Amino acid sequence: MYPRAFHYHRAGSLREAASMLSEFGDAKLLAGGQSLIPLMKLRYANPSHLVDLNFIEGTSYIKEESGVLRFGALTRHAEIEASTVAGKIPIIHDCAAGIADVQVRNRGTIGGSLAEADPSGDWATVLITLQTEVRCQKSQGDRRVQLTDFIKDAYTTALAQDELVSEVVVKVPPKGSAGAYLAFKRSAPVYPTASAAVQLTMDGETCKDAAIALGCVGLTAIKAKDAEAALRGQRVTEKTIAAAVEAARAVADPQSDMRGSVDYKRMLAGSLVKRAIDIADRRARGEQVEAGHIYA
Ligand SMILES: Cc1cc2nc3c(=O)[nH]c(=O)nc-3n(C[C@H](O)[C@H](O)[C@H](O)COP(=O)(O)OP(=O)(O)OC[C@H]3O[C@@H](n4cnc5c(N)ncnc54)[C@H](O)[C@@H]3O)c2cc1C
Repeated sequence: MYPRAFHYHRAGSLREAASMLSEFGDAKLLAGGQSLIPLMKLRYANPSHLVDLNFIEGTSYIKEESGVLRFGALTRHAEIEASTVAGKIPIIHDCAAGIADVQVRNRGTIGGSLAEADPSGDWATVLITLQTEVRCQKSQGDRRVQLTDFIKDAYTTALAQDELVSEVVVKVPPKGSAGAYLAFKRSAPVYPTASAAVQLTMDGETCKDAAIALGCVGLTAIKAKDAEAALRGQRVTEKTIAAAVEAARAVADPQSDMRGSVDYKRMLAGSLVKRAIDIADRRARGEQVEAGHIYA
């Protein structure tokens, strides 16, 4: 189906784009279009004005500065996948490389993904295991929001109607810290059935800190705090991993759908956590371990 008629505008700067949102009211931003255009074609989204961000200079970049990685809002998943700078945080590479297929990765952006807040989206699940800040821009001024406060609910963020994402800033984890992101999918170009992100900071044999998040098993990415506590300050053994997996399963809150039943998804989430802990632990000890998504 064709989208309903709309007015198309090409923004010259992020500030101008924010001004247009304020001026037009019933307007949507266009980044990669990988979520928005299908919704417009299905007529679930019918904005009167479309503000295209794609022609704004300097909105696509990956920079390392003073202990953080900065991603421009329009940075494509494929650019992150190919970046050696982003690859310094392996869980970020796992995420970018596993999103859908190459066509979607070539168009879809990190800023658009976070702004969409799709419960099945990969970025939020991964980035809440790291310290992530979202830079938000209005026509007058900007602000910084922690990712944990940015995602409010399914498809709902802290963005005001006339505000946009300008940059995503991720703190580089300390030495001895590494993560892994695994998703279970029916095929590449579909969203995962369940996913798990694990970031471990090791001090010799002891897990100094753990961050564990589950994706696609709740209305937003879920931070598995009891699972983290099961590992924190402990050696990573079969027993502590089993405790973390049980705690992760308990906090999962999936819905039954064509991808599987509630029980199936809960079991799956636990299994993904178990595998991701193993990979994160080995990576934190300096081992090079490939982590690819798992297909049905
Ligand atoms: C077949 C297919 C499979 C997919 N599979 C996956 C998957 O497995 N995992 C996954 O994570 N994603 C998946 N996606 C989604 C993809 O990652 C999208 O790129 C992403 O959800 C949205 O990014 P976008 O840049 O395309 O945003 P758009 O579609 O352009 O915009 C999405 C929404 O965000 C708003 N927006 C865009 N940019 C900004 C900004 N800078 N500030 C504020 N608001 C903004 C738009 O107005 C719109 O409401 C898939 C998409 C398709 C078509």
